[in-house]
Amino acid sequence: MNTHTSAQEKIQLGKLSTPFIEKVAIIGAGLGGLAVAVALRKLGCEVQVYEKAQDFRPVGGGLGLLPNGLNFLDAIEPGIVETIKNSGCEVRTIVLKNTQGETISTNPASRFQDKYGQPLITVWWWHLQQILASKLPSESIHLHHRCIGFEQDDHRVSIYFENGEKVSADFMIGADGINSVIREALIGDGKPRYLGSMSWRTVIKYNQEILNPGEFGFVKGHKEFMYLLNLGNGYISWVYRQLSADYIISQNAGEAKSRVLNQVADWAESLHSLVAATPAEQISQTPICDRLPLNSWSQGRVTLLGDAAHPMSPALGQGANSTFEDAYELALCCSQASSIQEALASYEQRRIPRTQVIQTNSFLGEMRYYPTETEASNHQMPEHSQMSREEFQDWAFNYNP
Ligand SMILES: Cc1cc2nc3c(=O)[nH]c(=O)nc-3n(C[C@H](O)[C@H](O)[C@H](O)COP(=O)(O)OP(=O)(O)OC[C@H]3O[C@@H](n4cnc5c(N)ncnc54)[C@H](O)[C@@H]3O)c2cc1C
Repeated sequence: MNTHTSAQEKIQLGKLSTPFIEKVAIIGAGLGGLAVAVALRKLGCEVQVYEKAQDFRPVGGGLGLLPNGLNFLDAIEPGIVETIKNSGCEVRTIVLKNTQGETISTNPASRFQDKYGQPLITVWWWHLQQILASKLPSESIHLHHRCIGFEQDDHRVSIYFENGEKVSADFMIGADGINSVIREALIGDGKPRYLGSMSWRTVIKYNQEILNPGEFGFVKGHKEFMYLLNLGNGYISWVYRQLSADYIISQNAGEAKSRVLNQVADWAESLHSLVAATPAEQISQTPICDRLPLNSWSQGRVTLLGDAAHPMSPALGQGANSTFEDAYELALCCSQASSIQEALASYEQRRIPRTQVIQTNSFLGEMRYYPTETEASNHQMPEHSQMSREEFQDWAFNYNP
């Protein structure tokens, strides 16, 4: 049965009542910070976004947008899914290959649209950041504002930045990612947990045929694999992952590229050439990390959202998608409550149980990459039981605004 909600049935934020909150400060202009800024502005709040980066640069890799994330983005900004489709690529086939480039199996991705009412879209992270930023007045985004701390009392939050500025707001949202300073101040749970795998990713304009149009590729090695994403307009993203107990960050871009090139030396010529053609300085290396789920994200007039609240392994592709759910639901809770405490209690009640299941299943999905259980069990195992991939997809993708 098709259980998806039609666009007409969704609650549009612009039609909800204006909340009691006037001034909102959001820390971080990543996908989560920008999405919640758009949502809260729709309700009539005055929103300012503070970002540590000096400018918006063409960074990040390819991102897979899944039915739940797309549903929530569309509820925040009706029509945005069409814009994203035009910027990225609608996936029609998922292709599994071996390292020699031979196809092992293909899976139609059209079932996403049929079953969940939204397709699978791949888009360049930076393009999506730009699409979201374009929905906000440029003067509400403050680059070069690294938050270094805050204080709050019964009436306001005072926020401090490295550049010496100080601002105050009625409400603050920490959307500052996996190494969140806001989380550190609220919860203080230290550094993220390294999950035993490194990632190298990039986006390049590449005119050799490596994927057919509409294909999403997964190349499976033994303790290594690569995702290949079409991002539209001739852009390809590759993400190389390697299980590695030691967390070694290469000292410079050339060394990082050489490391990947060595690893794929005996892979198919087409895959090796793709890495060889990538400018070293465009490859970003990241350790794969998560954190254990929390039971509370808020204190007083401050809360967390996205990776700051529930960072997870990318195994199920839910990092950004679950963040768009947070953005919509936080705005909805603000609109329906009569105090910040009431809004945050209802936000946590809606979001924490669901994101705990997503974080846990993402962790267990990540552990599937390990060839033996002993290697996987070096990490603290969560209490929730693992769903099958199909069960998880039905549960996750059928979640609607
Ligand atoms: C540059 C970048 C590229 C990425 N590329 C990919 C990708 O290709 N594929 C993928 O699956 N995921 C990618 N991610 C992660 C993905 O965006 C997140 O997992 C998910 O979207 C949740 O988003 P978020 O907004 O909660 O966190 P993030 O996307 O991490 O955004 C956090 C934002 O807060 C800013 N920030 C951090 N600390 C401070 C501070 N103290 N003061 C002010 N600002 C601060 C950061 O610069 C960043 O812009 C990327 C993240 C970043 C920051």
